[in-house]
Amino acid sequence: EDRWSFRATTALVTGGTKGIGHAIVEELARFGAAVHTCSRNEAELSRCLQRWEAMNLKVTGSVCDVSSPVEREKLMEDVKSIFHGKLNILVNNAGTGFQRRVTDVTPEDFKLLTSTNLDSAVHLSQLAHPLLKASGSGNVVFISSITSLVGIDTLAVYAATKGAMNQLTRSLACEWAKDNIRANCVAPGYIRTPLIEPLCENEEFVAKETNRIPLGRLGEVDDVAPVVAFLCLPASRYVNGQVVVIDGGRTVNGNR
Ligand code: NDP
Repeated sequence: EDRWSFRATTALVTGGTKGIGHAIVEELARFGAAVHTCSRNEAELSRCLQRWEAMNLKVTGSVCDVSSPVEREKLMEDVKSIFHGKLNILVNNAGTGFQRRVTDVTPEDFKLLTSTNLDSAVHLSQLAHPLLKASGSGNVVFISSITSLVGIDTLAVYAATKGAMNQLTRSLACEWAKDNIRANCVAPGYIRTPLIEPLCENEEFVAKETNRIPLGRLGEVDDVAPVVAFLCLPASRYVNGQVVVIDGGRTVNGNR
């Protein structure tokens, strides 16, 4: 086996039309994986698929809102038929967040955050399990956040969904090891994507954050995608149940 290759490898990456998910799709596909992705916006998904085809990358896609249980089942049916019942990699990336003081969080806000970030991660993992097992060598990677590890104002419920994701990682790592499925998680700091564009346009915010980060800059999607790829490669075969922080050193910085 080639420990640095995705030859004959199939992957599902949720939320691949923008941001971190987009970079993960390209990273896995460039190294040889056949990748399926999804998003809610059909026009944007088709534009991405056309671009990837022109780049000679093997990527397919489905329109799916991962906050909907029925749509999650439909997505996994698509994956099952396209990849003939075998899936090597599941990246639970699709997620959402917004800043709101915890005292202002409505039941609707709560439902949106938990269904998109957490229900989807649990349910898609459940649905993928038979396919991951059938592949003979499976990997699940969750996209968490440093908000799961340190307290940050106005992100309480978002952070709670990510903290739950870290623990889900540890549980699946133990429960599914016998099926030769590993589970790991990455916890990025602030990464420049459409999700946090408003924050990145706030110069005061960027200056304050940059000052906290030993590497002296916010993150880019290409700071995250290669780490996710590594966690899915045979090269990391003894790494299981870990939360890998990708934040330029922000959360270990005791100076500021
Ligand atoms: P973006 O909003 O930039 O991109 C999100 C992608 O997911 C888009 O392709 C979007 O397409 C898709 N998506 C969003 N909601 C759904 C849904 N309900 N169903 C299906 N697809 C969906 O986000 P990021 O790339 O910034 O974030 C990706 C993940 O990384 C999230 O889980 C986020 O919490 C996490 N993260 C982000 C950080 C950051 O600083 N950016 C830091 C730490 C973690 P569409 O809207 O068309 O459906």
